Amino acid sequence: MSHVDAPPTCPLCRAEKITPWYLDDELCWIAECSICALPMVVLRAHDREPAPEVKGALHERLAGVVAEHFTFEHWVDDRMRQIPDHYHAHARPDGGFFGHAGLRRGAAADGPDASNGPDASPGPDVSPDPDAAHGPDASNGPDVPSAP
Ligand SMILES: [Zn+2]
Ligand SMILES: [Zn+2]
Repeated sequence: MSHVDAPPTCPLCRAEKITPWYLDDELCWIAECSICALPMVVLRAHDREPAPEVKGALHERLAGVVAEHFTFEHWVDDRMRQIPDHYHAHARPDGGFFGHAGLRRGAAADGPDASNGPDASPGPDVSPDPDAAHGPDASNGPDVPSAP
């Protein structure tokens, strides 16, 4: 019933898994772009302009993938240069355009950040000041006036 007149040449409809895939559901899929080496969300339907709430859902999924698999703050670039009639959006690093391996989690040493040990407190604050040091003040004796 739903007639999809996608051109057979549309690479996004073919959805070839030539790069790592991060997400795959009924609405969209997210894979690494073979050109940019960045995560890219692709609408499953061949549609150049999905509804704003659909775009929002795609961008949310994309943000989740970036948070889980990458280390950069991203911005959503949905200007479609290569394939202008099938909606897709890249997550690009802040201030950048192309990705590289250093942006990916787990590429190299990715151990937990163990630089800060247990926070050793400086110990209890002991102020030795018992208030018992001053005896009776016996400095001045009775002022005896010398008798004439
Ligand atoms: Zn398509
Ligand atoms: Zn790309």
